Amino acid sequence: MMEVDHLIEHIRSYNPKVNEDLIKKAYYYTKEKHKNQKRASGEPFFCHPLAVANILAQMHFDETTIAVGLLHDTIEDTNATREEIENIFGKEFSYLVEGLTKLNRLDNYSQKAIQGENLRKFLVATSKDVRILLVKLADRLHNMRTLDAFPPEKRIRISQETMDLYAPLSARIGMCDMSEELQDLAFRYLNFEAYTTITERLKYLLRTNENLLKIIEDEISLLFKESHLKARVFSRQKRPYAVFFKMKNKSLAFEQLSDIFGFRVIVDSIKDCYRALGLIHTNWSVIPGKFKDYISLPKPNDYRSIHTSVIGPESQRIELQIRTNEMHEIAEYGLAAHPLYKEIGSRSSASLLNELNAYAWIRKTLQILMEGGNPEEFLEHTKLELFQDQVFCFTPKGKLVTLPKDATPVDFAYEIHTDIGNSCIGAKINGQSMPLLFPLRNGDEVEIITSNTKTPVEAWANLVKTGKAKAAIRRATREATYEQYCLAGQDILTHYFEICGKQFNEKDLVPILARLNYEKIKDLYVSIGKHEQKAEDVLKIIYPNGENLNQDFDEKNETLPDSCVFFRDEASPFSFNYSQECIKKYISPIDKKYNYCTISFCENGAIPGDSIIGFLNNKNHITVYPARSQTLLKYEHRDKRWIEMRWNFYKIKDNLIENPQHFAVKISVFLRADIGALARMTAILAEQNANILYLNVPYQPRGHSELIFVIEVEDDKHLEKIFKKMQETKVVSLVKRIYG
Ligand code: MN
Repeated sequence: MMEVDHLIEHIRSYNPKVNEDLIKKAYYYTKEKHKNQKRASGEPFFCHPLAVANILAQMHFDETTIAVGLLHDTIEDTNATREEIENIFGKEFSYLVEGLTKLNRLDNYSQKAIQGENLRKFLVATSKDVRILLVKLADRLHNMRTLDAFPPEKRIRISQETMDLYAPLSARIGMCDMSEELQDLAFRYLNFEAYTTITERLKYLLRTNENLLKIIEDEISLLFKESHLKARVFSRQKRPYAVFFKMKNKSLAFEQLSDIFGFRVIVDSIKDCYRALGLIHTNWSVIPGKFKDYISLPKPNDYRSIHTSVIGPESQRIELQIRTNEMHEIAEYGLAAHPLYKEIGSRSSASLLNELNAYAWIRKTLQILMEGGNPEEFLEHTKLELFQDQVFCFTPKGKLVTLPKDATPVDFAYEIHTDIGNSCIGAKINGQSMPLLFPLRNGDEVEIITSNTKTPVEAWANLVKTGKAKAAIRRATREATYEQYCLAGQDILTHYFEICGKQFNEKDLVPILARLNYEKIKDLYVSIGKHEQKAEDVLKIIYPNGENLNQDFDEKNETLPDSCVFFRDEASPFSFNYSQECIKKYISPIDKKYNYCTISFCENGAIPGDSIIGFLNNKNHITVYPARSQTLLKYEHRDKRWIEMRWNFYKIKDNLIENPQHFAVKISVFLRADIGALARMTAILAEQNANILYLNVPYQPRGHSELIFVIEVEDDKHLEKIFKKMQETKVVSLVKRIYG
């Protein structure tokens, strides 16, 4: 008989209405496509898809699944395309075969590291149609059966993956037989010594116990016969990996295992299961703690049986599994033997071909499995549908990270560790530098670049997808801001005590906290730092009679030009919003007693190279002006408030800063109103690496324009160079700095 006829007859044995044409078409198409290819073993490649189809037939799957089993490697390994398969077999087939092609690519990822739980989720997410999964399992089973032809490292890798992923997966969808075979095959490659030892021992035990097993079988059968209970009784031996697993898991020696042999009792009905149980329990002594009724309480994968252990015939300790024929089939064949499947099969072949109907029950089963509630079982938290809302990415070391759809590298960073999230400054996706808020896609490899800073950008909190990242960003920015305000408040208060001629002592604050409605001293500092609480009021409470308070600084309602930004959470018209941390790194008052003050730049900016002067307002804030600024003249009479400032810039530049900080400065450019003049100016700024923060064109005298820019430059030399470049264009008649 021809191979293809053999396959068709096999299917016909459980499905009399088999679609012969479909199977033949898939058979000849695949055979033709793979015709000149060989497997690693040297056999024609076509052996493999044919074997996969036969495995699927053995599990009693429908002809669509079996045809896909034949076609499964065509897109991956031959010149077949999705379009071609769609034209010949239809959309359903091209979709399924392409799904399998995608799954093959997953194998390359899992090579790096196997993360059982997450990888299984990835697998399920990728196989939106359960049939893809079924064919993949059959594919893996055949590859495992023929693994000897592969090179040694590949054998180990594939075996490990089988052990960690495919064996548990098949067990979870009820294919216990397949799962056990996969485990034994993988076990042989992963731990050859243990495998051989255990296999030899099992063979020996079977030889020496053959008679005993027969005696026990007969005695149990006789018991049922005498009670007119129709039952089949047979013995079975535990499989090598199951033995190994139990020895390892329970730290037992081989000799200590009591359940190497077990007996199965197969009866016709559930009622008979309990009758058989009763007979066994009344004839032999029950071993306590071994009785389990999986009929009234089935396992999540729909396994049903009664388990019990007794001191049975010949005083042997024996394990028994009692089940109906139907339960037995489900335990062996898994989903294919499920009553729901049969129900659909008996309706019409049309409904079998309809994916939605024919496989709804498998989905349903998967869903039930996932709701199973056993934390050790896979897929515990999530329903299948939820996987569609997830994206699966990898670290450079191959660790899989599961995130919600549209998650960003920032989410990824926080998912790995809060510290990595807080200090991330850049990301590479599949080796390319990408924005930190770029949405990730399935299979992306993400590398996070970090710096020493520990404060994330506050605005990220609204752009990230995971709750974990949002909460962490809010916490980190809140903490950073809180600490900033706290330090500022403490400095303000200390300074205020000082100028009032009083000794500051933190202990003096404790008794007044309740009156001011604060729980902690730190809260009081923060409030002062935010200027919500006046430092003078604190002093007035401690010194109610105002004795000897130096009122020198008690000036009200003084207004100064609004300086730019105090803290990161206040917006500014331009991007002058350097954080205090940043400003204080570059500028400090020469007199350290003003260190408590906050600092900002005047609205026209100051750049390194300028000599600078600070002006102290009564809010404990210093605004920094270039010494040439005209504004300072307005405050000449208040020269007591003028504070000497200095740049720390160059020192820092040499030691620490790779990319020098840029500082904002306002400039005016007069030019001839030629077409393209503005573009030339902006091109020069871009060439010179000067960011434009603001551009205004205030008025247009005939034939001329004035452009007002706020640009960011490194220092005065950088600015000079820009001026020179602009003047070289010859459209520029005058370029100057605006000091204000
Ligand atoms: Mn294959």
